[in-house]
Amino acid sequence: MTPEEFRRHGHQVVDWIADYLGRVDQFPVLSRVQPGEIRAQLPKQPPQQSEPFGDLLRDVEEIVLPGITHWQSPNFFAFFPCNSSGPSILGELLSAGLGVQGMLWATSPACTELETHVLDWVAQMLALPDHFQSKSQGGGVIQDSASSASLCALLAAREQATQGESNRRGVYCPLVAYTSQQAHSSIEKAMRIAGLGDRQLRRIETDTQFALRPDRLAEEIARDRAAGNVPFLVAATVGTTSSGAIDPLSSIGEICQRERLWLHVDAAMAGTAAVCPEHRLIHQGLEFADSYCFNPHKWMFVNFDCDCFFVRRRDALTRALSILPEYLRNTASESGEVIDYRDWQIPLGRRFRALKLWFVIRSFGVEGIQCVIRRHIQLAEQFVSWVGANPDFELAAPRSLNLVCFRHRGGDTINQQILDRTESSGALYLTHTRLHDELVLRLSVGQFDTQQEHLEQAWALIQKAAVQELGDLKV
Ligand SMILES: *Cc1c(COP(=O)(O)O)cnc(C)c1O
Repeated sequence: MTPEEFRRHGHQVVDWIADYLGRVDQFPVLSRVQPGEIRAQLPKQPPQQSEPFGDLLRDVEEIVLPGITHWQSPNFFAFFPCNSSGPSILGELLSAGLGVQGMLWATSPACTELETHVLDWVAQMLALPDHFQSKSQGGGVIQDSASSASLCALLAAREQATQGESNRRGVYCPLVAYTSQQAHSSIEKAMRIAGLGDRQLRRIETDTQFALRPDRLAEEIARDRAAGNVPFLVAATVGTTSSGAIDPLSSIGEICQRERLWLHVDAAMAGTAAVCPEHRLIHQGLEFADSYCFNPHKWMFVNFDCDCFFVRRRDALTRALSILPEYLRNTASESGEVIDYRDWQIPLGRRFRALKLWFVIRSFGVEGIQCVIRRHIQLAEQFVSWVGANPDFELAAPRSLNLVCFRHRGGDTINQQILDRTESSGALYLTHTRLHDELVLRLSVGQFDTQQEHLEQAWALIQKAAVQELGDLKV
């Protein structure tokens, strides 16, 4: 493809995306293809000869699009938002165009310096503690996902707790970590990857609002110490995946400080709310945290992947993750004046992700982001009032920011029926969880274009689905 051909096809692709975003509300939200249906339409062998670009785009429309679940639909209320936005898509495109591999400062100084700078902006936007700013001993880095961020935090904590011995000797002492029963599975996965395993992870009981109980945490730590185990990490959650519960960071933080444990805070979904001063209560106690992460790729209009990970002491992280082979030695790194982000993450290579984050922050402005977040939260509040006004339904947990957990009072069967019927109607997509061993419907408001009318339609259909089949509302 010559630069001129690229220009022409590039325009076609951008047009296609613009059209897609303009019509995304018209598709059934959840893809309806059967397993294997997409593959059955693809040739068994790769093409030997070049194919015209138009054929590629046609197949995207005809083969790929039916197999897409439309995360960008304003009727997408499932899981959590995975937002994209115009500025973000364009930033991503530029990143691909530059094709930079930013493992070292020297391999593209702008890639590193823009990232450091934008993460300082983000720390200001969320009013994070000063120790997460790059002017301190800590700083921020973009990871692919919250799972990776939590793994890096765990590895840094492990190395710190063993005074540098765990990298040398592997897992040689009974290290124990703590998280709540409602924490994300990525904490468990990080324990497995780090070679510690499920048995070394204590799942602490939660309170009536599904938040970690500090009294139980303190008891478990005491029990472990008495048994000769070595507590090293507490992973707290701000906004659990099931119900949006917020662990009490201040009490947990005091325990961590007293016990000298690394406190990692996973705010993957909810963290963005702190852009609004009135929602910063969710971060009360964050000054105790040694590390923190949240995902702009969930609720801050940056397309996947983009997780912002902050650490109090960057040396704790690099001690765990830095290895210097001869072929990566260079003058800039040896000067000590630059950051090499390869030492802050699992892979060596890294993409220029800061571009899309920078584009989003500059295009929206902080106020623009606040405005959308407030609208989402207000819509969720409104939904709660509707649930409250219908005696057949009840809240299953207190609303947490943009997430509403609710259920029909008639039991699991009818709630399952609501899920199945709304899903097959194509008009909206809800998912579920289990709380107190009951099936619970989750409505997460966070798609950029979701407006009151979409919520109204969703609520009307949910109520209807409790009593009858909805039929096919979308073609
Ligand atoms: C979504 C989520 C995760 C996982 O995020 P990835 O970036 O996909 O790894 C972890 N923790 C919480 C609280 C989440 O909401």
